[in-house]
Amino acid sequence: MAITEKSDFIREIITEDLKTNKFNGRIHTRFPPEPNGYLHIGHAKSICLNYGIAKDFNGKFNLRFDDTNPSKEEQEYVDSIIEDVKWLGGNFEDRVLYASDYFEAMYTHAVALIKKGKAYVCDLNVNEMRLSRGTLTEPGKDSPYRNRSIEENLDLFEQMKRGEFPNGFKTLRAKIDMASPNINLRDPVMYRIVHDEHHRQGNKWYIYPTYDWAHGIEDSIEGITHSICTLEFENHRPLYDWYLNELEIFHPQQIEFARLNITYTVLSKRKLLKLVEENHVSGWDDPRMPTITGFRRRGYTPESIINFCDMIGVAKRDSTIDVALLEFSVREDLNKRARRVMAVLNPIKVVITNYPEGKTEQLSAVNNPEDESAGTREIPFGRELYIDLEDFREVPPPKYYRLSPGTEVRLRYAYIIKCEKVIKDEKGNVVEIHCTYDPDTKSGLPGASRKVKATIHWVEASQAVDAEVRLYDRLFVKENPDIAEEGKDFLSNMNPHSLQILKHCKVEPVLGSAKPSERFQFERVGYFCADIKESKPDKPVFNRIVTLKDAWAKIEQHSKKQ
Ligand code: ATP
Ligand code: MG
Repeated sequence: MAITEKSDFIREIITEDLKTNKFNGRIHTRFPPEPNGYLHIGHAKSICLNYGIAKDFNGKFNLRFDDTNPSKEEQEYVDSIIEDVKWLGGNFEDRVLYASDYFEAMYTHAVALIKKGKAYVCDLNVNEMRLSRGTLTEPGKDSPYRNRSIEENLDLFEQMKRGEFPNGFKTLRAKIDMASPNINLRDPVMYRIVHDEHHRQGNKWYIYPTYDWAHGIEDSIEGITHSICTLEFENHRPLYDWYLNELEIFHPQQIEFARLNITYTVLSKRKLLKLVEENHVSGWDDPRMPTITGFRRRGYTPESIINFCDMIGVAKRDSTIDVALLEFSVREDLNKRARRVMAVLNPIKVVITNYPEGKTEQLSAVNNPEDESAGTREIPFGRELYIDLEDFREVPPPKYYRLSPGTEVRLRYAYIIKCEKVIKDEKGNVVEIHCTYDPDTKSGLPGASRKVKATIHWVEASQAVDAEVRLYDRLFVKENPDIAEEGKDFLSNMNPHSLQILKHCKVEPVLGSAKPSERFQFERVGYFCADIKESKPDKPVFNRIVTLKDAWAKIEQHSKKQ
């Protein structure tokens, strides 16, 4: 019986199937990617759904490569997909399976269909076949090759298999019904001739199965009970069922759900490939990409992606999810686990003129106010510090409470300082700010509770570590990047400011030993992750995971008010 608290229409179907003992109480799902690209957040939804169901119902979960198209598939993609599914926690145990391992079985099944008079070799080319297929309102026309004898079909199919015909010269088609109202049932193609090297089968095969023919057999061989796929396959289900019924083999249940779309994001593999191939991004793992590998490099946690998938649930109708919800989920998770540190992205020097020269002291800072067990750390304080340019205005606008000539601010975990003087270069740019500090205002001293209007972050200058910080933003400026001006495509909607690189940041000493992919909250600035590839102990590089501003909370508040 179901031990799940989650509820959706698929889990309801499964619970019912368990009640009626439909599959002898077995639950077995699979995730069937085609290894022709890297996985993206849409695939994550499918993984969370399929694996989540297997886990919740004590079932099994397979990772199966649907590698039936030799021309677009590569080992690089296979390797990345295995890594990404594992990273998301999808536990397929030892079951990494390949549709190409079933080519022989599929061939045998095809021969069986020919022998039953349910499949035939057709000589129509792609164009002729399209013309004779009919439309939604008109029936198709029978192929002139439809009534070939079983012997002739077996002979021709055998020749196709041996590679005796060039690409596109013949196909094997199921003999169903050219007048069916469902176009998928109008004698669909089962095999095409493709002379191409397969990444696992080499040059063994000259015929390759179509998705519809292959998929049900793959599911059946693996004993999959619930074959969960996206909505566009709904009209293919009668064909899925037809093949399995005709073959009289184990018959899984296909169930369709709505695919994930997200605002400001493209999720088509073809478009993601274009971004990579045309160098609009640095690769599949560019931290702006909606790929799992991109998110990982950016610093997203697997938990935040899994939570996001739980929050959006599964539905039967297509919809688009606000990207702010994904960012909210990331922020919520990092708030619990990320260590707080101080980092100054646009540094300007502050000299505390009444602080003794050569002296430094250690102050105590809280690592995570959300998690007491994270403890505290020591941070150095001295006569020279850096603060962020943003936190100083020579001529403050109204309601500006941070540092400006004559005003006071508190330095986080340290003292209250007062701006006494501004030093400029010959061009008039502020290069240094001279301040005095109030020694009585440190934590533990009587002046600690003295209130000023703003608290800002800072780092001590002599021990600060130089760092590079990469500020990532959304890759597209339009909510739906696919809606472009006439004659232009989604690329015209790219955000020209999606990456800003700051090379001269000053960060507190502990960040010098940040481990690759370690995550932090830079206080008042955002969440950051040491870059997996390029961060080095002597030259740390941090990626902005997400800002602190919660756009989602605002959206929610707004919708509550309405
Ligand atoms: P294509 O078939 O065009 O190469 P695809 O995105 O469908 O692209 P697959 O490798 O076939 O890629 O997808 C593997 C599985 O992930 C399929 O079961 C598919 O239904 C599911 N999937 C793909 N995109 C999404 C999405 N945006 N939302 C939910 N599930 C998805
Ligand atoms: Mg697909």
